Amino acid sequence: MSKTRGYAAAAVKAPLEPYSFERREPREHDVSIAIRFCGVCHSDIHQARDEWGGSIFPMVPGHEIAGIVTAVGAKVTKSKVGDRAGVGCFVDSCRACAQCQQGIEQYCATGATWTYNGRDREGTPTMGGYSDKIVVDENYVLRLPENLPLDATAPLLCAGITLYSPLRHWHAGPGSKVAIVGLGGLGHMGVKLGHALGAEVTVLSHSMKKREDGLRLGADYFHATSEAETFTKLRGAFDLIINTVSAPMDWNALISLLRVDGAMVVVGIPEGQIPIGVMALAMGRRSIAGSAIGGIGETQEMLDFCGAHNVTSDIELIPIQKINEAYERVIRSDVRYRFVIDIATLGAD
Ligand code: NAP
Ligand code: ZN
Ligand code: ZN
Repeated sequence: MSKTRGYAAAAVKAPLEPYSFERREPREHDVSIAIRFCGVCHSDIHQARDEWGGSIFPMVPGHEIAGIVTAVGAKVTKSKVGDRAGVGCFVDSCRACAQCQQGIEQYCATGATWTYNGRDREGTPTMGGYSDKIVVDENYVLRLPENLPLDATAPLLCAGITLYSPLRHWHAGPGSKVAIVGLGGLGHMGVKLGHALGAEVTVLSHSMKKREDGLRLGADYFHATSEAETFTKLRGAFDLIINTVSAPMDWNALISLLRVDGAMVVVGIPEGQIPIGVMALAMGRRSIAGSAIGGIGETQEMLDFCGAHNVTSDIELIPIQKINEAYERVIRSDVRYRFVIDIATLGAD
């Protein structure tokens, strides 16, 4: 076993504090990664506060992991010492079910093994990237583009793939009109990726405060959902709406912005149920769908696409000692647009 340092929440809603634990030694198919950077996803906060239920404590969050390979097991062929390596939201899956066979392992029939707040095949709770190293089977490790800065690449492992996957699945590209609701960690990646894919991108933010940023990130248009005229002006305007917001909102008003046969894909995950009127869907054959991250193959495709198009996240790098403050700022929407923890600062404790 190998001693690992990190930050953990000891119990629900407890502030994160320094925490040491053991990781397994690399097995024959394992890759050992020295973590350099880890993004702070709103899902980390939902889970550390047990807003989705069933959280396991102590919890070391973090699933936007970027680092360097330090050791590999005897049978590893996909990674070598010194490689830039990424780990996203899951570290294993059954590998046998239809979804695993199709490369959509995030929808594994028996449940993927989440990078943290999950249990591995031995039943041991998994621990995430707010830590100095991680050991992962080579089939669940991503290659990170050499031309992109490692810190700004980390958020691609969750925020990036969570937007890339529905953009691709619903065919965003030249000629399509896409709206991104919520310009946060996920939303800003949606703007960059939608733009890079050639779609016309509109941001629907709760105010006009982030307008300049939205346009700089690649949006063609920017509107506020707090202004009633947004919903009259843009009625029936979009082929695809990707909603990243987890706060309460007027769902039926958003649906009315879809053209006939348009789809709204929900990626923000609120605490409770969402109220949807079927009439708004029926009168336009519109659909509403959910989507979760992406499979390993698609995540690699997204990373390669980002390498080719120079797409990274806009980040604010923080020392790990500021993680609790960062959580409060994410909740206040005071982040432009992703906090990334500089894992080297763990040494300062
Ligand atoms: P985030 O950085 O906090 O962004 C959320 C955005 O929602 C904010 O920037 C803000 O955008 C908007 N917002 C916040 N409070 C609001 C309010 N009271 N009313 C209206 N809009 C509000 O969070 P994130 O990391 O992008 O994550 C967003 C959600 O996606 C979370 O629920 C997270 O758990 C979930 N998630 C899902 C997946 C998946 O696979 N489906 C993956 C990762 C995360 P504006 O200021 O522009 O309005
Ligand atoms: Zn995430
Ligand atoms: Zn499976």
